[in-house]
Amino acid sequence: MTNLKLVDLSKRYGQVEVLKHINLDIRSGEFMVFVGPSGCGKSTLLRCIAGLEEITGGTLEIEGEVVNDRAPSKRGIAMVFQSYALYPHMSVFDNMAYALRIANASKEEIETKVTAAAEQLQLTPYLKRLPGQLSGGQRQRVAIGRAIVRDPKVFLFDEPLSNLDAALRVATRIQIAKLHEDMTKTTMIYVTHDQVEAMTLADRICVLRDGKIEQVGTPLDLYDRPESLFVASFIGSPTMNMIEGSKAEPFKAHTVGVRSEHMIVSADSGTWNGKVIHTEDLGSDSYVYVDMGQEDPIVLRVDGSTKYRSGDTVYFSPMEGRIHRFDGTGKPIT
Ligand code: ADP
Ligand code: MG
Repeated sequence: MTNLKLVDLSKRYGQVEVLKHINLDIRSGEFMVFVGPSGCGKSTLLRCIAGLEEITGGTLEIEGEVVNDRAPSKRGIAMVFQSYALYPHMSVFDNMAYALRIANASKEEIETKVTAAAEQLQLTPYLKRLPGQLSGGQRQRVAIGRAIVRDPKVFLFDEPLSNLDAALRVATRIQIAKLHEDMTKTTMIYVTHDQVEAMTLADRICVLRDGKIEQVGTPLDLYDRPESLFVASFIGSPTMNMIEGSKAEPFKAHTVGVRSEHMIVSADSGTWNGKVIHTEDLGSDSYVYVDMGQEDPIVLRVDGSTKYRSGDTVYFSPMEGRIHRFDGTGKPIT
């Protein structure tokens, strides 16, 4: 069942069109991730869905009803931001209970809902604390808990983990994934610029570029079958290697894209070659940066036990079937 339907949705600020004819169906219970370069309109799109910004063209439907003019509080949507915006003088319990108190919920209902949300987010030991006595990850969980108690149909997240350090990001990401598993009927829309978050959390990823949808698909769809040079370059870390000009000619393409993990590396022969300029040892594997006379170095993933030194010449060839060919306009050649 479709839960959210965006039909030709557009948004302009004065003369500037920030969102351009967005058409997208989001299923009930789906985890949809929006990614795209800074300024492409991700936050604006979330705010239009939440009702915090007026939609200037097209329609937004929730469960079959057009809600363009419906107040944010009447849309069944809760939003979690990058900054937690908790009330500093209120306990964790009171922060989470706030919306319910405003809505005149009974004491019992508040107790039941806050206790359940705290349990779900592993916040039970902290209910009496003030936000200032919590870590960043715990604070973000309180912000999520505050949204959960309202029992929203749709959850919107705008880069919720970007203020957290690496370890907390991982822990909180896993918690959000669990939350999604538990709340099977709750639709989640999540904005991030983090590749790992996008790939691991999403049922589908929507790549936005300059206010338009570039491609929508499952993480593996986008990873394996990018429909443009833009998506190929945007999805995946490290970025897909792009080989151009005369070095791409043997493949009858303007640009040949090959991911780091899809190159066969050799010390003595291969399709292309270059000089090692740097290596990064990650333990399990290493990234070898190679200059082959293009603007950006080629990145090769090799086994961690293989050693290359700066100045070494290495040869590399694409694995069978792992080549992405693009024409001069950035369209894939099939
Ligand atoms: P993202 O979240 O993808 O980084 P935003 O949705 O915040 O991008 O912004 C998209 C574009 O809309 C940007 O070019 C931004 O400058 C513009 N924009 C956002 N809010 C406003 C506003 N209130 N008035 C005018 N322009 C805005
Ligand atoms: Mg943003």
